[in-house]
Amino acid sequence: MSDFWQRAFLYPIFLLLFSLLLWAIAGPLSAALAFGVGLLWHLATHLRHLAALRRWLEAPQTQAMPEGEGLWEDAFSRLNQLTREQHKERAAHIAALQQMEQATAALPEGVVILDEANRIEWSNPLAERHFGLDSAFDIGQQITYLARQPEFVRYLAGRETTQPLILRGNRQDDMILSIKLIAYGEGKRLLISRDITQFERIETMRRDFVANVSHELRTPLTVVNGFVETLQDMPTRDSDMAQRALYLMGEQTRRMTSLVDDLLTLSRLENEQYPLHEEAVDICGLLEEVGRESRLLSNGRHRIDLHTACENKLNGNRNELRSAFSNLLSNAIRYTPEGGTIDVQWSLQGGQPVFSVRDSGIGVAPQHIARLTERFYRVDRSRSRETGGTGLGLAIVKHIAMRHQAKLEIASEEGRGSIFSLRFPAQRIRH
Ligand code: ADP
Repeated sequence: MSDFWQRAFLYPIFLLLFSLLLWAIAGPLSAALAFGVGLLWHLATHLRHLAALRRWLEAPQTQAMPEGEGLWEDAFSRLNQLTREQHKERAAHIAALQQMEQATAALPEGVVILDEANRIEWSNPLAERHFGLDSAFDIGQQITYLARQPEFVRYLAGRETTQPLILRGNRQDDMILSIKLIAYGEGKRLLISRDITQFERIETMRRDFVANVSHELRTPLTVVNGFVETLQDMPTRDSDMAQRALYLMGEQTRRMTSLVDDLLTLSRLENEQYPLHEEAVDICGLLEEVGRESRLLSNGRHRIDLHTACENKLNGNRNELRSAFSNLLSNAIRYTPEGGTIDVQWSLQGGQPVFSVRDSGIGVAPQHIARLTERFYRVDRSRSRETGGTGLGLAIVKHIAMRHQAKLEIASEEGRGSIFSLRFPAQRIRH
């Protein structure tokens, strides 16, 4: 029998034996009376402890644990131990929570926890600054009451949240935020915000600077170019050396002119105030033109074939598409040795219109492919220069693709050739 039951039965057995003894000495009435009084006293003791326990339970934090006797002493001491452990655990949880709060407060990004209905559950101080929140009042509010821009509301409602959203004018102080949503748990989402105002300012300055410098260089270059050409055409040529110098000068000024032109094209494409003017473009007509120019550029050194399926037109900007297509074609020509083949294809793949240029040229090693669209990134600098490249062609193509929501895909094998494709969204087909 366990210690508890031994102690529990000790008093009733003792009372029973005492009453039996009393029966033998003083008769049944005295025994019954003593047994009854003994039981009542036992019950009163339990009730007294129960009342003390109840009193303590009403405010366990502020009161000391009551003293107990007998079985109650043991129960109270165990309860006391339990509450002490609980206090310790709570203190540890609070310390961990405080540490988490300090860590999230130190994060260089704003963090808001949103529930499945986009209500704010928690936010760190930086997020409060970014969205103008006040955690005392705004917990439980829908975030779209506080940040109402349509693009933000659309971003929250949409499924496509892998790309961050750039949010301008959320507050009066012209703060520019980069926003990202991360889903976790059951329907919960983390809204991460980063202040990119300074970064955007520097980026705008950089763009303006490049555009301005290119503009400034254009006029003197045109003048010098003009003079060089005039001198080259003059019948009185003093020496072969002068002629050679003039030829080289002409080549270099032409190179600089195309560099400046490409820089200007890029800064125009980057400028958000320059929206895409869309029209229904007859791609086959456009490809005939681009194909003719390419044959001139190739000058019979390559076989250039067009494979076009033209039922519908494409919604887009003709000049930009022309620039993208001819950039890709001119690359294929420049990076394919004499005798190679170039296939230009315009087709529907899985409902999406795709433009692709396949060449049997020098190809690109895998480690370079991801970087080809960076400005001035060239695998072989001197080959690019020799063939009149500026190192900006694919950066221009990528920008044009982005403006048309198209994807530039590159597949290449060194020494065997490459395929550069532009995959347009199906919605761009004009039926
Ligand atoms: P570039 O004026 O140097 O051609 P681009 O931006 O058009 O500049 O291309 C960047 C680099 O990508 C090129 O220097 C070249 O190394 C590589 N490249 C582009 N197209 C091809 C191609 N069809 N075949 C092989 N390499 C290519």
